[in-house]
Order: sequence, then C-alpha cells, then structure tokens
Amino acid sequence: MFDFLIIGGGLLGLLTAKELQQAGAKVAVVDKNSRGQQATWAAGGILSPMRPWLYSEPVNAISSLSQSVYQQLSIELRDQTGIDPEWLLSGMLVLEDNELPQAIQWCEQNNSPVEVLSVEELNSQFEHLAPFTESAIYRPDVATIRPHKLSAALTQYLTLNGVSFYNDQEVTKLQHTDYAVTGAEIGKTTLSANEYILCGGAWSTQLVPKLCPQPDIKPVKGQMICFPPTDITNLCMVMDDNRYIIPRKDKRIVVGSTREYTQFDASTTQAAFDELKHFAQQLYPDLASIEPDAHWAGLRPASPNSIPYICRVAPLSNLSLNAGHYRNGIVTAPASAELMSDILLNRRCKIDPTPYQLQR
Ligand SMILES: Cc1cc2nc3c(=O)[nH]c(=O)nc-3n(C[C@H](O)[C@H](O)[C@H](O)COP(=O)(O)OP(=O)(O)OC[C@H]3O[C@@H](n4cnc5c(N)ncnc54)[C@H](O)[C@@H]3O)c2cc1C
Repeated sequence: MFDFLIIGGGLLGLLTAKELQQAGAKVAVVDKNSRGQQATWAAGGILSPMRPWLYSEPVNAISSLSQSVYQQLSIELRDQTGIDPEWLLSGMLVLEDNELPQAIQWCEQNNSPVEVLSVEELNSQFEHLAPFTESAIYRPDVATIRPHKLSAALTQYLTLNGVSFYNDQEVTKLQHTDYAVTGAEIGKTTLSANEYILCGGAWSTQLVPKLCPQPDIKPVKGQMICFPPTDITNLCMVMDDNRYIIPRKDKRIVVGSTREYTQFDASTTQAAFDELKHFAQQLYPDLASIEPDAHWAGLRPASPNSIPYICRVAPLSNLSLNAGHYRNGIVTAPASAELMSDILLNRRCKIDPTPYQLQR
C-alpha cells in the first residue's frame, strides 16, 4: 500500500513524486508507456512562456517561481545521477515588432531583464541571422533545458530514492465509492494507495470518474524538427510569432512548433516538416544546405486560458489532478508539483491555489 499513487510519469508526475518522496512519503508512479515519453519528451524545453505578456497571472505565477529554481534543480539532478538535464542560459530574441510596447511594459513590471535592440545592433550582434529590418527585444534571462534528459535524470533520482515505478502499465479505471478512490486497475491487478494523483497530461480526463466535475483538457499536437550539430556560432533562441529556434549545448538546433487539433493523433506530416525547415532556413541562411535529421510530434494538454488544474477532485476525498499545462508544462512544472504537494500535505501554499481549481 502506497501513500501516493501518481498516474502518469511525464514531468508533472515525476516532479510531484520528487516533492512527496522528499517529504518522506511512500510513492509509486505508473505510466502506460515508458516514463516521460509523451508531451514531456516532445517539448522544446523553453523555460519561459513564449510571450508571457499574453498570459494570465496564474500562468506567470507558477512560471516565475519555477524559473527561479530550475538551474539549481538541474545541478542537483546532474550531481546525484550523472545525467545532465542541460540547463542553458541561451537568452531569447523576440521578433514581434507590434508587441514591443506590451512586452517591454510586462518585463519592466515583472523585473524581467529586457533590451530593445535597434536594426544596427541586431545586425552586428547576430550576424548569422538573416538581415533585420525592424527592431526586436532581447530577453537575456531566458533559459532552456533538454526535457528528455530532465526526465531521465529525475527517473534515476527517484529510483535511487525508493520511488516505485510501474512502466508500460495503463490504468484503465479508477475503482471508487461515492466518497473515495479505492484502487487503480492495471490489467488484472489493482494498485492501492491512500491518495491518487492524476498527472496524465492530455489523457487526464479519461480517468476522472463520472460523478466528479470534468476537467476541460484537450490534446493539441505540436510537431518539431531538429538539425544536426552545426558550426554556426553565437546561436541564440529566436521567437517569431508561434515559431521558434532553440540552440542546444551540443550545437544541434531544434525548431518548433505546429499547433494542430487532431484529437489523439500524434503522427508527423511532410507539410509540417517542410514548413518548419523553411522557417529555420529563412532565419538562419547558413542552415540552407543542412537537412534536419529528426522530426517528431507530441500532444500538449490544453486547458482553458492555459491555466492548469492543480487541485483535489471532489467529491472523492483522495483524488487530485495536476494536469492541463498546455504549452508551458516544462517551465511551470516545479512550482506546480510543489503546489500540488503543499495541498496534499496540508502545508502552507507558496502560491494561491484558487485559480487552479477544477471549478472556476
Ligand atoms: C512540441 C511541443 C513543444 C513544447 N515545448 C514546450 C516548451 O518549450 N516549454 C514548455 O514549458 N512546455 C512545452 N511544451 C508543453 C509541455 O511539453 C507539456 O505541457 C508537459 O510536458 C506536460 O507534462 P505532463 O506530465 O502533464 O504530460 P505528459 O508528458 O504527456 O505525461 C503524461 C503521462 O501520463 C501517461 N498516462 C496517461 N494516461 C495514462 C493512464 N491511463 N495510465 C497510465 N499512464 C497514463 C502518459 O503515458 C504520459 O507519459 C511543449 C509540448 C509539445 C508537444
């Protein structure tokens, strides 16, 4: 019998497990695939909402708290497991001329460093980018991480610290009374715990019993491509509308991403590959002669206004939900996991839990 059974081993599930394990609880994580192989695996790993000035306060609150701990988390995991999640302070160039005033105002109000660069400054500082014709803003404090390495490091850390894993095991049903969950069915077996936490990403709603209010979480497909390591120097993360380029420590260049409403179909398409490649080669002309060597897709767990559900699920006294982080599930994960654990352990919450309730 576990204290906590976490259903879903994406980043939200793994970090929630870490918080609870560190509080001394007996924790298990069950995943229908290998851990971290869904949205978390597919993500770019930008550690900021793409344009935070367009997001609501509840999203930015869990983002900024998470951003403040990410570097230390990455170092802790690297030192304890030997797997480096590759936190990298890459900075972000935002090419949204018509959003400049709003962006600058938001950055100033939120003490987020920002520089407005003129066309001349951009052309001299970013000589590998296509020539600029408009000014842009540069956010020097935006970092990235490699999500699949972060998941691998977390899994190793949790295993070393006694968390149990059930891989390739789908929870098909939650058994329950009118008041509480009594077990999680996986095949012919039932796993039991005092508390059950749904961290199933885009699939989370499928397991919420009918007698509960239903969360509004829908899958939204995102496709990405990746170029092999290049010799291009002075690479910078660049955001242009909904498309972006992320440089990696190993000099690979990741390009994302599409936004497609295809239900649970996570297949890749030639059209998206061509479009992302064209976007990258237009921005970085040096990429014109290089062919991307990877292409993948993942399903983001989209919720209304991108505000995740981090809450208990009434009337079942021992069911909780930590899901629906949409495009920001990497950057918001540490603070979301902490808030979830504060609620479960009756600790004082660092962040007001009200906006993340099921009934809003
Ligand atoms: C292309 C793309 C790019 C992105 N880029 C960024 C970015 O740069 N920055 C950022 O902050 N966010 C980004 N995101 C969003 C981010 O990836 C997600 O918000 C986040 O990974 C969600 O994590 P999760 O743990 O909730 O879901 P997931 O990672 O999808 O994990 C859910 C897990 O639950 C398991 N599961 C589901 N149902 C069951 C069941 N019945 N039984 C057992 N297991 C179950 C699944 O197998 C899965 O492993 C991106 C997403 C995509 C797709």
